[in-house]
Amino acid sequence: MTQIQIDAAFDSGNIEVLSISGTTARLKIRKDHQSDFFQWFHFRVSGCAGRELELKITGLGASAYPGGWDGYNAAVSEDREFWGRATSSYDKSEDGGTLTVRYIPDANVAWFAYFAPYSMDRHHDLISGAALELGVDHRVLGRSLDGQPIDCLELGEGDRQVWLYARQHPGESMAEWWIEGALDCLTDPADPVGRKLRQLCRFHIVPNANPDGSYRGHLRTNAAGMNLNREWASPSAEKSPEVLAIRNAMDETGVHFAIDVHGDEAIPAVFLAGFEGIPSHSPQQQAGFDRYKTILERRTPDFQTRLGYPVAGAGKANLTMSTNQVAQRFGAVAMTLEMPFKDNNDLPCEAQGWSPERSAILGRDCMGSLLEWLSEATLA
Ligand code: ZN
Repeated sequence: MTQIQIDAAFDSGNIEVLSISGTTARLKIRKDHQSDFFQWFHFRVSGCAGRELELKITGLGASAYPGGWDGYNAAVSEDREFWGRATSSYDKSEDGGTLTVRYIPDANVAWFAYFAPYSMDRHHDLISGAALELGVDHRVLGRSLDGQPIDCLELGEGDRQVWLYARQHPGESMAEWWIEGALDCLTDPADPVGRKLRQLCRFHIVPNANPDGSYRGHLRTNAAGMNLNREWASPSAEKSPEVLAIRNAMDETGVHFAIDVHGDEAIPAVFLAGFEGIPSHSPQQQAGFDRYKTILERRTPDFQTRLGYPVAGAGKANLTMSTNQVAQRFGAVAMTLEMPFKDNNDLPCEAQGWSPERSAILGRDCMGSLLEWLSEATLA
């Protein structure tokens, strides 16, 4: 029986092969460089047409979020456009915690990942496509440690400063799919929601705040092993130039409204986290956040408010996290949006689970909700 082959030496690739026997492989995930975090995987299997693969990803008890594996099915694609799911099961007692992925590809080449990847090449297509649109400005806010640009798209003629930024945690690739949906709405000259938002707001959109981690196949950190969403109190040029560049640009414009876009490994739902414990917390600022949640929940069945993170007590906010820092620093209504790696269990999709398509639709719905939120605020 010929052996399958497994490769991961490409943009956002991550897997180590421990052994291969026929169509069964024993694998492990490489840690983020200079960090102990690991959870993101992305690899190619070849020599596999019509054969049942059994892929065992081992040692996951030590992964960043062991709670992410129960009820999780690996993402799989044969054409690199449509990402479905391969039936997977987690056994915490096998080989340090093992996810067993089973799949029979039609093609001789199949791709597996923790979530549908968003490549740096696609990122550059997104930037160039948006930059071609009338009225869209492009700025390089700074550079990453590996020398990649921190791209920012700016559009709109209004005076409300809106910041949308994604992929501080690079393995949370759904965040850049979300940006794609939001940008589609905002740059479509025929879209009435986008047109109105552009009249009211100036948008600053950073589709990928951590290009080095993305390219290196990291879950959570940049090239120096720094978790960028713990750097917002005192970012440095040496360790976290990505955050320093974004925060400096925010200082220039001010911020009225901000969404920091993420993915959550364990919770099978979409939810928002706020800024409840910041020192300058006010009932008015909180009411703005609560009102946005109410609007979004009414507008899409893919958003809910039952499941989420525990809320920080008064004065207990962690100001190294961007949402808290931005809410404190600018008095903004700031929020962290979390989408699932698994699925929205209130509205599950057997074929795809949570997907790029649903992330993009949510991006569009978040823009519709923003317009409603701004309109109500004007009336009040
Ligand atoms: Zn995150």
